[in-house]
Amino acid sequence: MHAIGIDIGGTKIAGAVVDEFGAIIRSERVATPGDPQLLEDAVVAMIESLSANGPTAAVGVAAAGFIDAAQSTVYYAPNIHWRNEPFREKLEARVGTSVVVDNDANAAGWAEFRFGAGRLVSDMVMLTIGTGVGGAIVAGDRLFRGGFGAGAELGHMRLVPGGIACGCGQHGCLEQYGSGRALLRMANEIADAGGIGQSLARVREEHAALDGRLVGALIEEEDPGAVAAVRQLGHWLGQASASLSAVLDPQRFVFGGGVAVAGELLLGPIREAYLEHLPARGYHPEPDFVIAELVNDAGVVGAADLARVWVEDHA
Ligand SMILES: [Zn+2]
Repeated sequence: MHAIGIDIGGTKIAGAVVDEFGAIIRSERVATPGDPQLLEDAVVAMIESLSANGPTAAVGVAAAGFIDAAQSTVYYAPNIHWRNEPFREKLEARVGTSVVVDNDANAAGWAEFRFGAGRLVSDMVMLTIGTGVGGAIVAGDRLFRGGFGAGAELGHMRLVPGGIACGCGQHGCLEQYGSGRALLRMANEIADAGGIGQSLARVREEHAALDGRLVGALIEEEDPGAVAAVRQLGHWLGQASASLSAVLDPQRFVFGGGVAVAGELLLGPIREAYLEHLPARGYHPEPDFVIAELVNDAGVVGAADLARVWVEDHA
């Protein structure tokens, strides 16, 4: 049976009817309303519209934030004014279908595990490199949520003691060294230094500031300055992966998000730094490092499948 996946992002809400093989049958998107009540109304309207063509097993909703282990209450969401929001209960009362709520990075990781880059392994770590760094862990074919549901926040692993201040209130988190925002900081530093940073400096002057799209275009041209920035980013991500390997021993690391379009230019430095920092290197099998396959659809596909899994587990 089909399931519905809804992905609430900072700027848009994406929704889709998804079949049991992860294929999208129908999809919709609207801008994310700033007001929490209007947001709830928009999600309900989308579920009703997507349900119009036939019955669905359940609805999965993905949002950034801390969500309880029962996939029900949003403790906190950075983009929405929610505190301990019983979103599942509210939606179920309005749409009359089973609803589960999950963290967006978990939903994306689950989609890759079921239908994308992680489908041939039992243990996988996914890092989503967007503005921040999202994390998802699959261990023994199950999504790892933690005891309270707030686990797998891999972007807030401490990488550099006393390092750059992070939005979470701590210092030196992976997010400050391995995110899209970190890549822009590195690109600006390389532009300031001159030499290989000439093209970055020229583009920055033409457009007043560097952004993800501009740096992405230079990466695609394999501009030496932009490639050096990606190398720095990959170096940090590889170090973090080495620590994660010591704890979780995944067969595969999957990298998603906007920066992942750099492909081998990113994966090469990640592998190098990984091997350099791996504890007990050479004494156990090594995981592989790949780019995510589902890109823009991972959130809705994963949310829908997590809802289907929930229904099966509770049948
Ligand atoms: Zn942090």
